[in-house]
Amino acid sequence: MSSRSSSDTGTGAARPRQILLLGGTTEAAALEPLLDGHPRLHATVSLAGRTRRPAPSRLPRRTGGFGGADGLAAWLRDHAIDAVVDATHPFAWQISANAVAATRRAGVPLARLTRPPWQAGPGDHWLRVPDLEAAARALPGLGRRVLITTGRQHLEAFEAAPELDYVIRTIDLPEPPPALPRVTWLRARGPFSLADEHRLLETHAIDVLVTKDSGGEATAPKLQAARERGIPVVMVDRPPDAPGVPRFHAPQATLEWLEDLARVHRDSADST
Ligand code: NAP
Repeated sequence: MSSRSSSDTGTGAARPRQILLLGGTTEAAALEPLLDGHPRLHATVSLAGRTRRPAPSRLPRRTGGFGGADGLAAWLRDHAIDAVVDATHPFAWQISANAVAATRRAGVPLARLTRPPWQAGPGDHWLRVPDLEAAARALPGLGRRVLITTGRQHLEAFEAAPELDYVIRTIDLPEPPPALPRVTWLRARGPFSLADEHRLLETHAIDVLVTKDSGGEATAPKLQAARERGIPVVMVDRPPDAPGVPRFHAPQATLEWLEDLARVHRDSADST
């Protein structure tokens, strides 16, 4: 926990630990009920504010950016935060980098809660690439009709292969759209069933699928459908994890990490 002691509060007893949960994901939503009503952990959930109607939560919530790592560090100090859980999406690299820098600056422990990456199995033909630019470079050798499911950001990377036919599935349309001569836009939000994904691959005669390694169940059926149809997958790898930050895949393990921190704090408060 942070260097503050219970005597800082003037109560003489260990106060509940203040937790900031960087959310916007199913993992954060799964941790929330474990923190709701916890006697020693008081959590505030932070959302970027991209979703117009976010799912309801019983925990206090704040919305919108902090103003970079400096803004986040100041927010941690101003709100006497004792620990941060970064449960943001594996590809939300900016907020995760800010969380690392800000917690170091503020002297606050940080843990990462993230879904496990997908693993290729028998029958999968995956090409792992570090970014969308590398995906675009690989495509011409793999097929002509391409399904892109990497989200609406940075699609201009595919302008490097303008000769291909693209089917691009996003929740919202990118603004501005990439300068590609042949695109079919599909607006849809997961989860998608295996039958949906087979239909999509068949209807558009897809030769190759491009996806980010987001992990999770909601969008995994496209990988199974690709496997069953013998379609290659260009898998964009996650940004690397920050060294030294404990990483959990399960909400329960994250809760135990927070409880351990609170216990260490209470023991040290008891011994003073
Ligand atoms: P990003 O590029 O890493 O973040 C951009 C900026 O948005 C951050 O610098 C920060 O602004 C603000 N921000 C992001 N997450 C925030 C949070 N939880 N609370 C407060 N501010 C936040 O993130 P992104 O890829 O745009 O994703 C935005 C949110 O959508 C994240 O919470 C993420 O978990 C969720 N999401 C992302 C994806 C994806 O594929 N990237 C998919 C599903 C859900 P300041 O610098 O001003 O603090």
